[in-house]
This record gives sequence, C-alpha cells and structure tokens, in this order.
Amino acid sequence: MGTVYSPCCDVHITPKIGMVFSSWEEGEDYYKTYALHAQFCARRGPQKLGEGGSPIWKSFVCSKQGWREMGPARVYRRNMHHSRCGCKAMIRFTAQDDGTIRVSHLVEAHTHIPDEYI
Ligand SMILES: [Zn+2]
Repeated sequence: MGTVYSPCCDVHITPKIGMVFSSWEEGEDYYKTYALHAQFCARRGPQKLGEGGSPIWKSFVCSKQGWREMGPARVYRRNMHHSRCGCKAMIRFTAQDDGTIRVSHLVEAHTHIPDEYI
C-alpha cells in the first residue's frame, strides 16, 4: 500500500569512483540495482584474492562484455576500436584497510544499446 514506483531513473543510483560500501554484498547489490535501472545485466567479473582467500578487489561487468576468457594470454592491441570486442562497462571494488570497500574503477559506457531496445 502506498508504494510508488518511479521508473527510470534516479541519477543518485549511478555509481561513482570513490564510493564506499560496508561489504562486498552491498557493493554488488548496488551495482546490480544500478544495472537494472540502466537496463543491462551485471555479472561477476574477475577478482583478485589475497593470502588467506579474502578478496583484494572484485569486479562486475556487463553481461554483454563478451571477452573470451580462455586462451593462454590476453593480447592487448593498441587499437581497440574493432566493435566485436564486446561491452567494456564494468565496476571494480577494492578492499580498504578498515574492512570497507571502495569503487576504484568504473566504466559507465556500453558499446551496445540497452536490452530493452533489442
Ligand atoms: Zn553493456
């Protein structure tokens, strides 16, 4: 009762570099909620674990990222303009000394139109 749906789109929901969250889950939820509003699908991306298995950083990427994850080496070309590479939208959270996590990288731009229009 009394629920108000405000479709699209709270600009306050857009993540920013330097945002701090109290846990990985909170950061992940935040990005997934944002993804929902921005009409793309977020999935877990690469992460780095430290000694003892606690994460140093974790990233989440657009589900249309499309990089091949196999292969012996990732080859970076200087000209990355070929469009078949997939979407590069991502966020990375980095652990801080006090146990919180911070947005350290963010790519907002997608290389495709939002899912809704496909
Ligand atoms: Zn995308």
